[in-house]
Amino acid sequence: MVVYLGPEFQPQLSKNRSRAKLLKESAIHADDLLGVRRGVVATIKASCSNCGDVTLTSRDITVRVCSADYNGSYHFTCPRCDQIETRTADPRVVELLVTSGVRLVTWHLPEELHESHSGEPIAYEDLLAFNEILKGDDWIDTLGSLDAG
Ligand SMILES: [Zn+2]
Repeated sequence: MVVYLGPEFQPQLSKNRSRAKLLKESAIHADDLLGVRRGVVATIKASCSNCGDVTLTSRDITVRVCSADYNGSYHFTCPRCDQIETRTADPRVVELLVTSGVRLVTWHLPEELHESHSGEPIAYEDLLAFNEILKGDDWIDTLGSLDAG
């Protein structure tokens, strides 16, 4: 299976060879994050911003999807220049990559976004005062004695 990820993010399956033949030729035993399972390593052509088209395998790419809004992206390290390339991926591209054997990672927004906040934002002077506290040998006791408000 050959997947093309051009700079305009329009994936296309190669039509030169039959899917069954390609799967048979490229079927190997592959490990993934979930443990050892049988998998297929697909050939994926993507675009590096420095080098142009590069050839990767499904093992070279990681798809990330946010659990909150389902926005997707994928990234890979260019095999020529070692630059990390990151692209947005619409649901169609995510599905294509995942069905091609690319590892899917779901990420979550930080819990801090759901915290309630009160008081004034931290100012530069607050950081200076905190730095002074940390210079003392009893900094942990000093911090413990401070009022949380
Ligand atoms: Zn490159």
